[in-house]
Amino acid sequence: TEERLRQSEKLTVVGQLAAGVAHEIRNPLTALRGFVQLQFEQGEVREIMLKELDRIECISREFLLLAKPQSIRVAEEDPYGLLTDVLTLLQSQAHLQRIMIVTEIDKPLPRIRCEANQVKQAVMNLLKNAMEAMEEGGTLHVCLQGDGEGATLTITDEGKGIAPDHLQRLGDPFFTTKEDGTGLGLMVTRQIVHHHGGILTFDSELEKGTTVTLWLPINTDFATEEEREAVQIVQ
Ligand code: ADP
Ligand code: MG
Repeated sequence: TEERLRQSEKLTVVGQLAAGVAHEIRNPLTALRGFVQLQFEQGEVREIMLKELDRIECISREFLLLAKPQSIRVAEEDPYGLLTDVLTLLQSQAHLQRIMIVTEIDKPLPRIRCEANQVKQAVMNLLKNAMEAMEEGGTLHVCLQGDGEGATLTITDEGKGIAPDHLQRLGDPFFTTKEDGTGLGLMVTRQIVHHHGGILTFDSELEKGTTVTLWLPINTDFATEEEREAVQIVQ
């Protein structure tokens, strides 16, 4: 647990710095993109410039997510509702990739005191990774269970799996194996899970697939004084 604590402190500092830098980058970036669009004629150079600018935009947007949102709203949420919202957003992408999403929902489920948008963001990142790993399509199993202490979301994909020596690097800033990946999704996810006092685990076998388990407690005592101040509790 000491290592986990140290990691999270590191993330907070990185997150604050990253958010500041991202914010400063976005204004000039928007101006530059407009300029390229206006001044360069159609052609390969213009397309490459726009593509690279969009990549910077994408990275800075993910960085901004690391910042403390302006208003955090903690409330008792129905985990099934949160999951359904995210699955709805991913449905068409799943269809395009020939992925069938099979859900198994235990009822009744306990309500979870959390920041809904952050939790949705975390679940979205996990589901997107699962789908991106399933290049040949297949079945994605999503299971939601509850008990007296919390709720567990289990995502099992039939994707390419994660190499054993990559497992410990998941969530490190910029760790990606994808050509157009940012390596920031799991960093954000890990930070959100930590804020909620949850646990995120990965179990994977190469060429077989990956199971990601996310556990969130019914109620969390937001870890530090600083975090408590940032939270407007809505009861
Ligand atoms: P990105 O998706 O931009 O690469 P992430 O932080 O979301 O960044 O993920 C980091 C890396 O973790 C991915 O590039 C991939 O190698 C690995 N990964 C995460 N989830 C899975 C999964 N379900 N199956 C296979 N690899 C995964
Ligand atoms: Mg990702």
